[in-house]
Amino acid sequence: MNNQLFGVYLHIPFCLRKCYYCDFVSYPAKRNQEGEYIKALICEMKQYHGKRVDTVYLGGGTPSLLCEESLEKLFSALSSEFDIADGAEITMEVNPATVDRDKLAFCRRLGINRLSIGVQSLSQAELDQLGRLHSPEEAVSVIKMAKSEGFYNLSADIIYGAAGQSRESLLYTVSGLCSLNALTHISCYALRCEEGTVFGTRQKAGEQIEADGDECADQYQLLCSALAQFGLERYEISNFCKKGFSSRHNMKYWNCDPYIGLGAAAHSCMDGRRFYHTASLEDYMGNPERVEVEETLTDWDRKAEFVIMGLRLQDGFSEKEYERRFGSSFAEDFPSQTERFEKNGLLLHRHGRYSLADSSMFISNSILCEFI
Ligand code: SF4
Repeated sequence: MNNQLFGVYLHIPFCLRKCYYCDFVSYPAKRNQEGEYIKALICEMKQYHGKRVDTVYLGGGTPSLLCEESLEKLFSALSSEFDIADGAEITMEVNPATVDRDKLAFCRRLGINRLSIGVQSLSQAELDQLGRLHSPEEAVSVIKMAKSEGFYNLSADIIYGAAGQSRESLLYTVSGLCSLNALTHISCYALRCEEGTVFGTRQKAGEQIEADGDECADQYQLLCSALAQFGLERYEISNFCKKGFSSRHNMKYWNCDPYIGLGAAAHSCMDGRRFYHTASLEDYMGNPERVEVEETLTDWDRKAEFVIMGLRLQDGFSEKEYERRFGSSFAEDFPSQTERFEKNGLLLHRHGRYSLADSSMFISNSILCEFI
């Protein structure tokens, strides 16, 4: 147990402005609280002193908004509180509107070795429609600068499934990004209108924001084949990478390995417990060690989670690993689902692994629900 390697997620809840689709915990109006928030994060970190860590992920919000002083303090605390493995993957999410060459060079010097860049689209009209603050040119320029500053592991996010978004424009975004020869990874997210977002409100008022289901499915298939042509293979429902460049941090979630979440609304999972903090910035900063909700996972919870997360992966999960973790067999624990989904070809059982068939990937949610 002492040799356990953790992933650490740090939530940075500041943004320039709220994008119209965003339901992440971020507060554009509270950027003046950055210094106090960083102090709270460092205070929370101390309770995990000495834990071995091989991935660190700064997400948000917009971590690339943090000033150099805050980033320096955070990284100094990370290296004094954690035992960070050589070659650890250290990722930061970047909004192209918030960095220049000097900032990127500074981040590289700090030890950040992977960037996840929120590009979303290379069409100005689509970026405007989504409420993004940067232009396609700025996104491309940030990718090029990052590469020239020594980031060889770069990811970009793309959004698809917006009403009016054409397949031509999706292909334009994919080919424009891939032909930069800089990206090792792309994440593709279907636009969803969540309650409490600008889009959620507009959809309620009758506006069509999302493309219809069939169009969205077609766009997903188009993305899969276009990305494969550029050497980016799907390894998880929404994630594509060049060989050897899957997100090691996110793989911890999909493999149900332990992780520590620091900051407002951040989730942690370890030793059969899952817990998270309040989303309120003031409450979190008032007591950064206080856990808002804690759940002890039953054997059944852990099994279902292992299956649901594992089946998101292209290669699925190993039946031996299932047996090692739980002392029972997957097929015996989930007999009716296994039989039904194998029979209709949605679930594959090959080379000691269970995985979803390619045709099941887009409708995976409805299948995965059956394992809960
Ligand atoms: S930059 Fe990211 S976290 Fe911030 S509002 Fe936009 S989508 Fe949300």
